[in-house]
Amino acid sequence: MRVARLYDYLDVRIEEEPMPRPGPRQALVRTRACGICSGDVVPWYIRKKAPLVFGHEPAGDVVDVGAEVRHLAPGARVFVHHHAPCGACRACRRGEFVQCATWRATNIVPGGMAEYFLVPETNLFGDTLVLPDAVGYDDGALVEPTACVVKSLTRAGQVADASVLIIGLGVMGQMHVLLARHLGARAVLGADLVAARCDWARQLGADTVFDATAGAVAAQVADATDGEGAEIVIVGPATVEALEVGLACVARGGTVVQFMGTPPDTHLTISTNDLYFREVRLVPSYSCGPVDTRQALEYIAQGVVTARHVVTHRFQLADAGEAYRTAAEDRSAIKTLVEF
Ligand SMILES: [Zn+2]
Ligand SMILES: [Zn+2]
Repeated sequence: MRVARLYDYLDVRIEEEPMPRPGPRQALVRTRACGICSGDVVPWYIRKKAPLVFGHEPAGDVVDVGAEVRHLAPGARVFVHHHAPCGACRACRRGEFVQCATWRATNIVPGGMAEYFLVPETNLFGDTLVLPDAVGYDDGALVEPTACVVKSLTRAGQVADASVLIIGLGVMGQMHVLLARHLGARAVLGADLVAARCDWARQLGADTVFDATAGAVAAQVADATDGEGAEIVIVGPATVEALEVGLACVARGGTVVQFMGTPPDTHLTISTNDLYFREVRLVPSYSCGPVDTRQALEYIAQGVVTARHVVTHRFQLADAGEAYRTAAEDRSAIKTLVEF
């Protein structure tokens, strides 16, 4: 089978390798669509992992199952989460699934950018979801990123009736716009440096979008909120500067969500006096777990978030290198998918 292996930032090679065979409690899936994640194109993050068959947002068809698998049969159309928790450890019992050692250790084999991939037992039994007929493979490839947004807005607190500011309007920011709107936010505000992304967010229902090149975002947000700031602030860009902007924009009693990991050895200086007396929460939201993927698939099936809303570029596996470059460098790209 053919796979797309990532050797370094922008260095993707199509290679042949043997097809995996499922063990008794595993399954083999034929990939039909796989998204390129914002994390896949962060140089310091992927260099820790390279070389690897990248792509962890796959949807496809079950083509073979082991003898002990009863709940799924060949022909099932599925989303597979590349990480699944054990369900029994302390972290799992508290619902903190991404802190489970099993969650971190699990993976699909060899990865999503492969014509076929193996689903290990934990992933198969813990976080493989059958797609309803009306959900396309391209929509199915959005389950994992949508689930990250579900988790982020869950950790943000009550979205209904809140003013929500989304800093960074790449695909994850756009999905935050869609879900914040759906959850009844009073006002959805956005900010980005790229005009095309600002326009896209307006089309998806953002009320006010600030061009971050046109002066301080915090001043623009203050103007738009009677000087109060936004009650929920989602910080997409993986930088300390973006977190500082987020903290400058948040209202009293509000929450700032750190949505992306900053590089190792980065530090944020915070006024703890301000944090305390303004009662500002700074909440990280890393990836997602099985509760979030189920909720995400429900939203996708309801049409709240679909490929139609966010997928701007589609490629075949042979052109995975071009797909990667597009996701990394083409500022008109919202979501880039590889289809099989
Ligand atoms: Zn992802
Ligand atoms: Zn666990």
